[in-house]
Amino acid sequence: MDTVLPGQDLWLRILEKVENEVKRPHFLTWFQNTAILSYHDGLLVVGVPNIFAKDWLEHKLGSQLMQAIQFVHPEVREVMFEVDPQLGLPEDQRALDVNKLFNKEKKSRKLPGRQEVRLLEGISSKCLNPKYSLQNFVVGGSSRLAHAASMAVGQRPGSLYNPLFIYGDVGLGKTHLLQGIGNEVLRNNPDKVVVYMTSERFTNEIVEAIGRRNSKEFKDRYRKVDVLIIDDIQFLANKDRTQEEFFHTFNELYDNGKQIVISSDRTPKELDQLEDRLVSRFEMGMIVDVQFPDFETRLAILHAKCREHEVLIHPEVLEFIAMNVHDSVRELEGVFVQAIAQAQLEHSTPTVRSVAKIIKKLGRTQLEGLEEEVDLGERRSIHLHDVLDLVAAYYRLSTEDMLGDSRKSHVILPRQVAMYLIRNELGAAFEQIGEAFGGKNHTTVMHACEKVERQLKKDKNLLRDMNAIKKEMGL
Ligand code: ADP
Ligand code: MG
Repeated sequence: MDTVLPGQDLWLRILEKVENEVKRPHFLTWFQNTAILSYHDGLLVVGVPNIFAKDWLEHKLGSQLMQAIQFVHPEVREVMFEVDPQLGLPEDQRALDVNKLFNKEKKSRKLPGRQEVRLLEGISSKCLNPKYSLQNFVVGGSSRLAHAASMAVGQRPGSLYNPLFIYGDVGLGKTHLLQGIGNEVLRNNPDKVVVYMTSERFTNEIVEAIGRRNSKEFKDRYRKVDVLIIDDIQFLANKDRTQEEFFHTFNELYDNGKQIVISSDRTPKELDQLEDRLVSRFEMGMIVDVQFPDFETRLAILHAKCREHEVLIHPEVLEFIAMNVHDSVRELEGVFVQAIAQAQLEHSTPTVRSVAKIIKKLGRTQLEGLEEEVDLGERRSIHLHDVLDLVAAYYRLSTEDMLGDSRKSHVILPRQVAMYLIRNELGAAFEQIGEAFGGKNHTTVMHACEKVERQLKKDKNLLRDMNAIKKEMGL
């Protein structure tokens, strides 16, 4: 049964309208992984995955978007953007995969049929994100075994490796593989009942069942499951009652030849907060690990990302990213996405230098493959005009706007923010600031600074913008 989350359908219709009004690459980049977060009383809150998207949608596409929204849903009076970094993560069920949805011919456009299993009342949707498949998982040295085992389970669940236990550090592809298995099972046999959930979700359901005093019913539900996938089992640590229920569910499924797939951030042995009998169950099947991929695989993942996002990036830049990201595939993707987002914002393309800045922000100090030691903006001295330029760029205004007399609110706030930063970070005198801003009175500057100070205490958006600008300033 296909289900659509509330708001997804509405958002899709709005985007179909916007699509015709906006340049394609912009459309694909800035609406990727967006979602409607809430609608109340005329105020529509749109979630975006990062500050760049918020910035762009607010300042560049605001009017087109508003028109489309009011066309589809005339009651909307105001739109707000909220950054939610969870949007688009494998576990996330809200975001629209615009790149995929709008890549194809119009007629075939359809919201992803998220696989829903309705067991009994109470357990509703156990969602799989179609974005994660075993086919688009890039296989390289370290992940070959994990991928092969996943494929075997996806094709013949319950027969070979049971349970399949995949472990490894965060961001190395466990959720991708688990969801890929679920999708593969359903691809081969749509009638199978696949349940994917995190162990936290599993715990919540048990707590609810206990609250309703019907843990028997809870057990019965899981009898109908063919493949049970539990992500991040380590969160069952110290939850005795949940472990007990899980133990029974496990046995019941296992005895009936049903497939169980589990992921964890460590080996079964190292799960020392878990009951021994559970751990020994995990050890009955196949245990595989995922590791940080080698350079060639990292590069292959980046090439795959380029195809997915329909962007061309200089091979040298991709190599530079692959060479300098050492933690996780998630981080690799993060740097990639930020690089293209930033480049779009600046109407340019990622360069080694621009990518180096992004990686430096992750706290890397030593970068390989940088020919000259470029000044990456750390602790260099900042001048009044740098602040002006940064704030203007951040709010997509010109320096003239900043220094001028316009009383329009979209100009006034950035102007006051710049004054505030110059005062507080550079310690400039009110008179001096007034001078620089086209000969304004020092009391004007003082009021501006006070106002921003007050506003910062209650306006989270402003605080976030301020932090982003300070970061740009290298503070
Ligand atoms: P984990 O669950 O281990 O924390 P995820 O499955 O969430 O990690 O992976 C993080 C991100 O990296 C996801 O977007 C995933 O699609 C991507 N990813 C990880 N490994 C690969 C791979 N080998 N090929 C393609 N994408 C990958
Ligand atoms: Mg995960």
